[in-house]
Amino acid sequence: ITSASTVTLGTRFASDLPEMAVPWRAEDPPESRLLVLNEPLASELALQPAWLRTQHGVGLLTGTTLPAGVTPVAQAYAGHQFGGFAPRLGDGRALLLGERIGRDGRLRDLHLKGSGRTPFARGGDGLAAVGPMLREYLISEAMHALGIPTTRSLAVVATGREVYRETPLPGAVLARVASSHLRVGSFQYARATGDVDLLRRLADHAIARHHPAAAAADRPYLALLQAVIAAQASLVAQWMLTGFVHGVMNTDNMTISGETIDYGPCAFLEAFDPATVFSSIDHAGRYAYGNQPLVAEWNLARLAEAVLPLLHEDQAQAVGLATETLSGYRRQYSAVWSEGMRAKLGLTEDADKTAVSTLVDELLPRLHESRVDYTSFFRALAAAARGDIGPVRGLFADPEAAQDWVARWRALEPDGAAMDSVNPLYIPRNHLVEEALAAATDGDMAPFEHLLAVVTSPYEQRPGQERFAAPAPPDFGAYRTFCGT
Ligand code: AMP
Ligand code: MG
Ligand code: MG
Repeated sequence: ITSASTVTLGTRFASDLPEMAVPWRAEDPPESRLLVLNEPLASELALQPAWLRTQHGVGLLTGTTLPAGVTPVAQAYAGHQFGGFAPRLGDGRALLLGERIGRDGRLRDLHLKGSGRTPFARGGDGLAAVGPMLREYLISEAMHALGIPTTRSLAVVATGREVYRETPLPGAVLARVASSHLRVGSFQYARATGDVDLLRRLADHAIARHHPAAAAADRPYLALLQAVIAAQASLVAQWMLTGFVHGVMNTDNMTISGETIDYGPCAFLEAFDPATVFSSIDHAGRYAYGNQPLVAEWNLARLAEAVLPLLHEDQAQAVGLATETLSGYRRQYSAVWSEGMRAKLGLTEDADKTAVSTLVDELLPRLHESRVDYTSFFRALAAAARGDIGPVRGLFADPEAAQDWVARWRALEPDGAAMDSVNPLYIPRNHLVEEALAAATDGDMAPFEHLLAVVTSPYEQRPGQERFAAPAPPDFGAYRTFCGT
């Protein structure tokens, strides 16, 4: 039997970087109730699910019953928010409990969100509502099932506390797991302090945890920058291939590990349109679907600036090295995206490269023009690979024009079964997510559990569950999402 006192958590972040770790305690929830527990993830972390369901386990999941020697910390970071620099953001409503070694031997952060105000809270209440925490749980676990690097969700616990947004809402704490919570904004924070020793310790910590090969390079800090660029180029290409819109790509919401983080106003595209924005505060469309690759590059340039003092004694030389390294981003992004799109179209590496790239170039404007549901399209196209072109024709305003494209694509001998293994049938559809969260807020977890089961097996067809694969009905209207809820 596990007791809280036998759960070991490391303090590596706090001991390597005390200047960036403020010891703090979670607020006591009036009445904790476990709403959802990720049993497979608990097992990966060598935590017994049955124990996590006990009073002590729930105490760990809310940060209120802690193993001896564990001191949670609020992490300091800075960040560019919508392009404007904020030198002191930090965990306003979150805490790092510590690092846990999983069954695979890898170190992961165990982190809470919604655990009360910290010294970084500024005007915020430090709290989170049940709906948005379940939303992060659902979407992050869907992303994981889609094979996209992401923070994971271990549990959501209702706190019995009321949280005031526009109306009073039930409060919750999310227990989140990540390979770390280091962000581009963490480096910006260290840089802004002017303490180069702190910046170097942060870089060494990041290399050890995420990019250990960089330690052996001629220029380890340049190799770290290169590794982060590669990880983010790959991540954002995967978002684009899947139709994911992050919604708030501030530099404090971009990890050094290359995992997706901070599921606030994110949502998946339905009708394909590069200008798609869901966030209620993104009036200029800075974080629109189609801008994401460029925004990531901009954020990586901010990381490069932050590490300049580590790259070369001569800052002019450092700028040269950073610029050259950043110039690799576009190539790396395009390589991952093109390779992913080829796979989505069921084509092999042997397919004629010019023919493939012409087809791809023609495809996206056509999807946009007909406002085709992006996710449905690739499964309908897989049916066409097997000879049934009815479903794909039906998605286009001009079925004849689509048929011409399909005929040229079929000449390349696409593999329909391979397509079904990389193109999801089920994504977290906005109207279904809202329906599940509304029920959960009213105390009924059944729709959430059902939707979670569907989106965490995204490729496998479920008979009788067609409604989970269909876009929102027209009366659902334009979808709007929110930050900091
Ligand atoms: P986010 O939009 O979640 O990336 O958060 C940006 C910043 O606002 C971070 O410093 C958060 O910790 C802080 N923050 C967001 N919501 C709250 C809240 N309800 N209370 C305190 N701080 C918050
Ligand atoms: Mg954030
Ligand atoms: Mg448009």
